[in-house]
Amino acid sequence: MTHIPDHSRAAVLRAFGQPLRIEEVPVPRTVEPGALLVKTDCCTICGTDVHLAGGALNRRVDLPVIVGHEMTGRIVAMGAGTDRDSIGQALRPGDRITWTRTSCGQCYMCSVARKPTLCENARAYMYENIERPPHLLGGFSDYVYVLPESGRVRVPDDLESPLASMASCAFRSVIHAMDELGEIGRTDTVVIQGTGPLGLLATGVARMSGARRVIAIGAPDARLRLAADFGADQVLSVESTDAAQRLAAVLEATGGRGADIVMEFTGNPAAFTEGLSLARRGGSCLLVGQLGPGEVSLKPSVLVHRNLRVLGSLAGGARDYWAAMEFIRRHRDSLPFERLISNRYRLDQVNEALAAMKAQAEIKPVIALEETA
Ligand SMILES: [Zn+2]
Ligand SMILES: [Zn+2]
Repeated sequence: MTHIPDHSRAAVLRAFGQPLRIEEVPVPRTVEPGALLVKTDCCTICGTDVHLAGGALNRRVDLPVIVGHEMTGRIVAMGAGTDRDSIGQALRPGDRITWTRTSCGQCYMCSVARKPTLCENARAYMYENIERPPHLLGGFSDYVYVLPESGRVRVPDDLESPLASMASCAFRSVIHAMDELGEIGRTDTVVIQGTGPLGLLATGVARMSGARRVIAIGAPDARLRLAADFGADQVLSVESTDAAQRLAAVLEATGGRGADIVMEFTGNPAAFTEGLSLARRGGSCLLVGQLGPGEVSLKPSVLVHRNLRVLGSLAGGARDYWAAMEFIRRHRDSLPFERLISNRYRLDQVNEALAAMKAQAEIKPVIALEETA
């Protein structure tokens, strides 16, 4: 087995709004039953990392934390009973995996509601204090500790680690949300709000699901061109159109009815109310991007008169991680997944990478750990 050092280099956030610092964080001496220790291959950056570091996330963060949560790692130590992943595939030292936040299997959400992604006892990566064992619960780190209650999925040999990392947050959220929504029909017109990584991935899934028409709304123009390459039949720029023009365009594309399905991946609260107006009577609105504290005002009667179905979706489980990776393998000849992966940075360039992500100069930048360890 590979030599495991006493400490792991990790990018630590000690105060919101401050740069991350590269620190030496202890590596646990033992790996408990069900747990794994992995050597991180890479960690892609998610918008949530930027929001968390800036203190703009609407949830509890127990500082100091190791930032990063879209990671792929290679198994270097295995606790008892970890010889299979959550899909039933064999796991061995050296295998690459991605893993989920934890679910306990014992609470109401896990066992009665059957929504383990909403587990009442869930522990997520990058939110826990590094001073408490097992210390290494964030992705911008040479080593990460995978908790016993985390689902884990082996990464297929032919799938590159940055794509697997993208499938571990951005894409699994899209897959989970679209599965919760239900099937996309051949007669459906789907409007996708947002041309960030999630919106682009959702555009690809809608296209491959056989929707009649896919309309992507976003900006800047380079992202809209990418949306077209991911299968959007029509793109609408939020920079050169207003909400009334976008509504007119969607009505024109749907015989005056509106979209059968509207999916929101922008995080902008105004996109929610706009989305309601773009959906046809009896249509569905799926919300994934709204994670901030923003508010909108709305007439609830709109939902009743127009018989709308509004559905929010959070995160995803092991099934979705697996489905996301398999979707990329199945469709990588048709959809340009590689173009979502932007520049590579070393761990000590993490602040630069976060700044570029914040400035939207990056789509999905990669913190590469393997070769810099
Ligand atoms: Zn994320
Ligand atoms: Zn639970």
